Amino acid sequence: MHATIKNENLIYDALIVGYGPVGATLANLLGQGGYRVAIADTYRDVFDKPRAINLDHEALRLFQRIDLAEQISDGSALHPGTEYRGVDGGVIKAMGSAPPPYLLGWPPNIMFVQPEAERKLRSRVDALESVDVFLEHKATVFEQTSEQVSVTFDAPLGQTTLHARYLIGCDGANSPTREWMGTTMTDLGFSEHWVVVDARVERDIPLPSLTTQYCFPDGPTTYVICSGNLRRWEMRIMPGENVDDYRDLDKIKARLEPFVDVTALEFWRKSVYHFNARVADVWRDRRVFLAGDAAHTMPPFFAQGLNSGLRDAANLFWKLSYVLDSKANDSLLDTYQTERRPHILVLTEIAKDLGKIIGETDMEKAVNRDALLRKEMENKTQIVNRQSLVPPIADGFLDDKGGEFSGALAPQPRVSKEDKEFLLDDLLSGFSMVELSGSDGALRITIDLETANPQQSSCQDTGAMLTQWMHERGLTMMIIRPDGVVWTAGTDAAGSVNRFQTAFFNLR
Ligand SMILES: Cc1cc2nc3c(=O)[nH]c(=O)nc-3n(C[C@H](O)[C@H](O)[C@H](O)COP(=O)(O)OP(=O)(O)OC[C@H]3O[C@@H](n4cnc5c(N)ncnc54)[C@H](O)[C@@H]3O)c2cc1C
Repeated sequence: MHATIKNENLIYDALIVGYGPVGATLANLLGQGGYRVAIADTYRDVFDKPRAINLDHEALRLFQRIDLAEQISDGSALHPGTEYRGVDGGVIKAMGSAPPPYLLGWPPNIMFVQPEAERKLRSRVDALESVDVFLEHKATVFEQTSEQVSVTFDAPLGQTTLHARYLIGCDGANSPTREWMGTTMTDLGFSEHWVVVDARVERDIPLPSLTTQYCFPDGPTTYVICSGNLRRWEMRIMPGENVDDYRDLDKIKARLEPFVDVTALEFWRKSVYHFNARVADVWRDRRVFLAGDAAHTMPPFFAQGLNSGLRDAANLFWKLSYVLDSKANDSLLDTYQTERRPHILVLTEIAKDLGKIIGETDMEKAVNRDALLRKEMENKTQIVNRQSLVPPIADGFLDDKGGEFSGALAPQPRVSKEDKEFLLDDLLSGFSMVELSGSDGALRITIDLETANPQQSSCQDTGAMLTQWMHERGLTMMIIRPDGVVWTAGTDAAGSVNRFQTAFFNLR
């Protein structure tokens, strides 16, 4: 839908530049909250080829909040797990996902089709009255005063200027918002060219049943099992090779031949990427924020680029909404970078490390790598569950007496209440406390803890997943933030609520 501005002086609550998956998710969250939002993109349609193919359970939990998790999962496939194969073709490393019951209420990893998901996000935005969409609007000039941000766009009918209380640059790796902010990027030291091929397998041919990393020094190659008959191959362009040669399908087919019968493939797309690892040094300049690829890029070997961008949206959304509603002061917004930047640094290092395992081109080093990883497999010291590598939030708006679970993701069980069964988040609102109230899986819930009038209710932890998780950790209560992160966890409900109210009061 193409918006026309009826009132040039309108000041939106939020202006989002960039209608990719991160911008679209943030527009949904804010629009569903009733905030006046403008979102603009240079192009009319979504980018019609997939980049991300793997969504994690945090992303699905976020989509649950905008009632899209099921739609986005529709037609997806569970991630089958990954094997890494060494120089001799044998397995040197394996990674998989935790089996059900799913800790966050959703499968840990699904394989999805990015353009389809983006279209679903956009059609949900179209249904929100408080969001105006400006397609074919390219942001060119940015200004910021103490009161507002103004952005001028080049559009088919001439220039348009939009004003907002906050601007969020979700405008991708070459972010013009970031450039205008003058923010430097720290280069975390990764630079490789890879060619990425998506193809549909049109007939039965022998292929691995797991996603496979062929860690072969003479041609590192990744095989990814996507949804339906869609498959992806990623091939490192070797040092000294001409990147442009890989724009030719015959060259790509020649590289693919040892791995697949290329005559069975219908090629959907091929793209050459320069994988790098960069993180913006400053994510906020007064009324302006960066999110998604605008704030960070990493190689795709841990499939966490988009998932991390969605974490940015989840983190920024509740903080912006609390400040827009005058429930918290501006200092809450500073915790966005405090919480998100260190988290991204950890994930980027993991992605780089996996990339180094896969992309090694020196035979001697590859042989040593294989020996080391095989030893780890024998000693069972390899981390197999990929989600367990994702760290908790280390610092930010958290209880400093909250112990090791403060900053972790709160589990999300299925619960029942009045003969209805649903996921716990659907019952929560604002900061919520969950307490075990008996040995039989009964939960006491207190919502909107930050208000003068918190409401209590109860529900049943249907499969006792949360109850068991809390028992195993010696916990009887948790205070959960609006983004599903544990603010505190322990056994002292009254003391925790007191500490929370003091901490929250300091935000006013
Ligand atoms: C090969 C590959 C595989 C990947 N696999 C995964 C994976 O499995 N899982 C995962 O989590 N991540 C993965 N990623 C990363 C993921 O694709 C990106 O992190 C994600 O798409 C970024 O989303 P975004 O919304 O931040 O940015 P983008 O999707 O880049 O959107 C930015 C938008 O801003 C718009 N824009 C730019 N400039 C302007 C302007 N001046 N005015 C208006 N609009 C503007 C652009 O048109 C664009 O629509 C992969 C990436 C690659 C390359």
